[in-house]
Amino acid sequence: MIHIASTTAEEQQLIQEGKLLPVMEHFYTIQGEGMYTGVASYFIRLGGCDVGCHWCDVKDSWDADKHPLTNVDELVDLATSQAKTIIITGGEPLMWDLTYLTKKLHEKGARIHIETSGAYPLSGEIDWVCLSPKKLMLPLDEVCEAANELKCIVFNNHDFQFAEEQAARVGKDCMLFLQTEWSKRDKNLPLIVEYVKENPKWRYSLQTHKYLDIP
Ligand code: SF4
Repeated sequence: MIHIASTTAEEQQLIQEGKLLPVMEHFYTIQGEGMYTGVASYFIRLGGCDVGCHWCDVKDSWDADKHPLTNVDELVDLATSQAKTIIITGGEPLMWDLTYLTKKLHEKGARIHIETSGAYPLSGEIDWVCLSPKKLMLPLDEVCEAANELKCIVFNNHDFQFAEEQAARVGKDCMLFLQTEWSKRDKNLPLIVEYVKENPKWRYSLQTHKYLDIP
């Protein structure tokens, strides 16, 4: 677990217990991509990531110090008062111990999804693991084995090969998705369409929220 510089000893203890977490943003919207596209969902975006993807579209998330330490009980009440499906994302959310957050969400009857690079061990009770592996910090075997959905981002041609390597690591029932890196969509969209036609175990994941201009 990462250390947040500007915290008191008491806050650090609460972070260790998962009762206080750095939250970059949280909002109710629809899931825009992947298997659950179109499903009303409450997103909790945790701060902190050290994976370092150069094309990352949430670089503001990287420094956990920048994001307010948030009371998890209050966050759970707010999220579950609005949505049944809660998506924990980041940043890299598995840099934090999610045991307390997920236990409280389940007590309120929520279904819990996570979006992760898989670079850190799983924690907590997760109902749906969306693994989006990154070359700079490869996913752990335990996350590959737990993945329900593999979402590989295509930035350049080599990413098709990387996607196949990662697909060989997940379970046979894991759903496989290819998704273009957004800035490369004009070049990559037709390539992915052709790739999926030739390799139909894959599906195309369209970032519908970007076209709808919603978060
Ligand atoms: Fe950004 Fe996700 Fe890569 Fe972290 S793992 S740098 S949040 S794209």
